[in-house]
Amino acid sequence: MATTKRDYYEVLGCVKTADGKVLKSAYRKLAMEYHPDRNPDNPEAEDKFKELNEAYSILSDEQKRAAYDRMGHNAFGQGGRGGGAGGGFNDFSDIFSQIFGQQGGGGGGFGDMFGGGGRGQRRSVRGADLRYEMEISLEEAFAGKDLEINIPISEDCHGCDGSGAAEGAKVETCSTCGGAGKVRTQQGFFTMERPCPRCGGQGEYVSDPCRTCDGSGQVRVETALDVNIPAGVEDGTRIRLSGQGDAAPKAAGPRGGRGDLYIFVSVAPHDLFERDGANLFCHAPVPMTCAALGGEIEIPTIDGGRAKVKVPAGSQSGRRMRLKGKGMSTLRSTARGDMYVELTVETPSQLNSRQKELLEEFRKEGGDESCSPASSSFLDKAKNFWDNLVD
Ligand SMILES: [Zn+2]
Ligand SMILES: [Zn+2]
Repeated sequence: MATTKRDYYEVLGCVKTADGKVLKSAYRKLAMEYHPDRNPDNPEAEDKFKELNEAYSILSDEQKRAAYDRMGHNAFGQGGRGGGAGGGFNDFSDIFSQIFGQQGGGGGGFGDMFGGGGRGQRRSVRGADLRYEMEISLEEAFAGKDLEINIPISEDCHGCDGSGAAEGAKVETCSTCGGAGKVRTQQGFFTMERPCPRCGGQGEYVSDPCRTCDGSGQVRVETALDVNIPAGVEDGTRIRLSGQGDAAPKAAGPRGGRGDLYIFVSVAPHDLFERDGANLFCHAPVPMTCAALGGEIEIPTIDGGRAKVKVPAGSQSGRRMRLKGKGMSTLRSTARGDMYVELTVETPSQLNSRQKELLEEFRKEGGDESCSPASSSFLDKAKNFWDNLVD
């Protein structure tokens, strides 16, 4: 399984800017080509088909696509391809049926669809992965955060101990699938096999479902979890809490492990600071006199402190000063990025008469009452421009 993953856009043969419609039609075309029903006993086509479904499941989901565009395959951890039903993070089992207008059969997925196996050899079913989104401030991203979240997680129903059956209920063979647990539907040249929607692939069901869980065998339980958001976390980070997702349903066959919980962290924009990785940027206004004569300004830092910044005499707007080690914290490290302070020279707009007098005097002192700039390179360029005009 150490094969390198292909780029999802490449898999679909689309450019990165392709819109949803283009992706969908590319997916359709390729899915028809590689569908296992049309390529019996062709493991290569089967792999291609799986790869295709994975790529499309990511790119057709706006949030997953954005994460993929930003971080590539790293956005989805070690999930790995070829996981088939229940493997890894991406639940792409229903993608194909969505696109081709079929009813999703629930937990089954592709594995069952082209597995071809009879009943009895079902693979274990894992609990569902859960997704939790939270927004934190830039200060919190800097310092890290421990918090408790409450989320509803599926557990075995206490009323029936997860069986879904009321006390004394009889088990009956499913009449929809005749006990096979699977139904076949014909669509065009495909024969689709999917888990029976009535019995959920069990081939049987109980005559009298448990009233607490309506026969599902599971209930959602509000659960408090401690979450640690590490210092230096980036916007769009996904934190995986392994085995903290839904419990696997007892009634769905061989029981796999719990799903995972994924926490998606977004970092809110900040009033003062812009972030670029570990570095921060801050615009600082400086009075004209300070910029001309030099001085010192005080600016806030992300850790809540203050930093003094020396403004050299003759500073222009746009001048950047670097404050080493005053930027963001970084993941798994004590190092900090830098902060860049960009000066903006403020022109005084409300002068009293005395100030006006002083500035007039200042202007006269320069020996020129017009508004010619002091920048000689600009003057040279302007002269060149006029000289070279052809009439
Ligand atoms: Zn129950
Ligand atoms: Zn059935």
